[in-house]
Amino acid sequence: MIRIGQSTDVHRLDTGYRLMIGGVHIPSQLGSVGHSDGDCLLHTVCEALIGALTLGDLGKLFPDTSEEFKGIDSSLLVKQVMKKVKEKGYRVVNIDSTIMLESPKLRHYIDQMRKNIATLLEIPVEYVSVKATTTEGLGFVGRQEGIMTQSVVLIEKQG
Ligand SMILES: [Zn+2]
Repeated sequence: MIRIGQSTDVHRLDTGYRLMIGGVHIPSQLGSVGHSDGDCLLHTVCEALIGALTLGDLGKLFPDTSEEFKGIDSSLLVKQVMKKVKEKGYRVVNIDSTIMLESPKLRHYIDQMRKNIATLLEIPVEYVSVKATTTEGLGFVGRQEGIMTQSVVLIEKQG
C-alpha cells in the first residue's frame, strides 16, 4: 500500500526575522514571518506527510495559537509527524519539494536542506529532491513580499 501527500505553504517576508529554509539559516535582509521558526519548506514536508496519512493539516496538529509551538524549531514538528507515520506502520519512499523565492539565490544551500530532510525522514539523501525557482519578478514572490513552498511525498506501508 502506497499513499501520496501534497502541501503548499506561504509565509510573509519582513525585516527583523530569520530566513530558515529546510533547517538551513539563509543570510538575508528579509526573514520568514511565522508562529514557529517560519520554515516554510519543513512545514510542507510535515503537511504532505499529514496529508498522506489523511490526518488533516498542519494547523490542526500544531495550532498557531498554542504557546507550545511559538518560535519552535520546525524540525521538531517533522519529528513529531514522523512518529505518526511510523505508528501507522508506514515509511517514507521519496519526497520532491519546490521553493519559490525571488532572492537570495539558494543554489549553495540546497544540498544541506536535502541532507536535513533526509535525516528527518530517515531515508537516503538520493530520495530527497529540493528545487528552487523565482517567479520572474511576478506576484507576491516576485515583489519579495513572501516565500512559497510545495512538497509531494510518497509513503509505503511496511511489511
Ligand atoms: Zn508555514
